[in-house]
Amino acid sequence: MRQTPVVAKYHPIMNTPRFAVMWHDDAPDANRVAQPDTEPLPVAVDWVVIGGGFAGLSAARRAAERGARVLLLEKGDLRRGASSRNGGMVHVGFGAPTSGIIKQFGTDGARAWFTLSRQAIDRIAELGGTGADSLAATTGIDVQWRPTGHLELAPSRRAALDLASEAEMRSGLGVPVRLLDQVAIRGLTSSERFAGGLAVDAGGGVQPARLQAAMADAAQRAGVEIRTETPAQQIKRVPGGYLVTTPRGSVRTSHIFGGVNGYVDSLFPAVRRRAITVGSYMIATEPLDVALLRELFPGGEMRFDTRNFLSYWRPTPDGRIAFGGRTSLWPDSLSRIARTLTARLREFHPQLANTRITHAWGGQLAFALDRLPRVTRLDGVTHLSGCAGSGIALMTLLAEQTIDWELGGEAPLPARIPWHALPIPYEGHPWFLPFAGIGFALQDWLSERD
Ligand SMILES: Cc1cc2nc3c(=O)[nH]c(=O)nc-3n(C[C@H](O)[C@H](O)[C@H](O)COP(=O)(O)OP(=O)(O)OC[C@H]3O[C@@H](n4cnc5c(N)ncnc54)[C@H](O)[C@@H]3O)c2cc1C
Repeated sequence: MRQTPVVAKYHPIMNTPRFAVMWHDDAPDANRVAQPDTEPLPVAVDWVVIGGGFAGLSAARRAAERGARVLLLEKGDLRRGASSRNGGMVHVGFGAPTSGIIKQFGTDGARAWFTLSRQAIDRIAELGGTGADSLAATTGIDVQWRPTGHLELAPSRRAALDLASEAEMRSGLGVPVRLLDQVAIRGLTSSERFAGGLAVDAGGGVQPARLQAAMADAAQRAGVEIRTETPAQQIKRVPGGYLVTTPRGSVRTSHIFGGVNGYVDSLFPAVRRRAITVGSYMIATEPLDVALLRELFPGGEMRFDTRNFLSYWRPTPDGRIAFGGRTSLWPDSLSRIARTLTARLREFHPQLANTRITHAWGGQLAFALDRLPRVTRLDGVTHLSGCAGSGIALMTLLAEQTIDWELGGEAPLPARIPWHALPIPYEGHPWFLPFAGIGFALQDWLSERD
């Protein structure tokens, strides 16, 4: 098993951030529970789970707890996917705008989606809490769940006006939301940059690398065999099930769960024609003076702004600020993206002008055209994908619901909507995104002209 490399937290000469995931510095390595590479693969199992993020780990644990023999295959190491490198923000809602969900499903249908989102948050609260079923009780790992809620911040008066109807729509769907004026926002953020906002009194934050490590630990304790550096390369239908081939040998199975999300490769061409994959990027500051952190985050909430090219930021349990987003959909280098994110963070909070940025990193996520998650059976594999930037809670709960469905239970809500291939020539390389990005940037610019 590989060791996490020990590297200086801050580049001593160049005064630039280290290109590494800040969360990894303060979490057990999820890979420690993987089976050694030298052991042969089992000949036959009930389930092969492909992908070792929240979706794969949650599905694998659920299936094992229901009595199945489960093998989880991870292409790289478990920290390669988005699950240990995201913002750790557990929030109500989806990538899709509320108005879009209401338009697509009507008010009752939209309420069902938001109920799903609330249930997913409840599941994280249960796993992150201190009860008998929590991950802390099962594995001894504190995932640093904080039920803080979040703020959505409008960077212009026009955007603040739009939030009034957003608040009305969401409270009609059972979301605990409060509209806040500029003065209230200033009090909650010490920032002059925002013209208004929403407070959503549900959800909160976790330390994502700890959550993933705890989920890997819990899956292994439930009997899941986890194999890293073991890509699934081919799936063949054989009498009574499937044969999954990897560089370390083949395994027969009756069921396959696909949890590959933004890292989908040529094994799943049908998913690549449906899932749009995109990178998201983050930076982290050095630990702040306690008084400054309290001034900027008196309530400790998670934060988003309301732009298409949204920024998201939060205080971390070890006293830093983690800040994420992007400003275009053109390919770019991590060092340039880190500079842009740093400028944005300082624009929101000029108090951080002299605060050092110690880390920068990125990851991949996937979304469907309507920006709602999907559970879809394609070519013998049941895929869970497309939770966009809301996958921590949704992937965790939906993976459990997907296993229950496969074992005779009710279909999860996202399994009830079709997932069509994109109506353009496309297989995994979203050439059209930079052009869509120009439209998003134009909308952002227009909405900021008060
Ligand atoms: C920078 C960033 C910030 C984010 N912030 C948030 C946030 O604050 N809140 C939130 O809710 N969500 C956030 N997200 C989204 C969230 O991280 C994802 O939705 C979630 O982690 C997806 O989990 P997953 O298990 O489906 O996929 P992943 O964690 O991406 O795992 C997929 C795994 O599949 C593996 N794989 C692929 N192909 C194969 C194969 N052939 N064989 C074996 N293994 C394979 C990959 O190596 C990868 O490890 C963010 C994402 C990013 C990138």
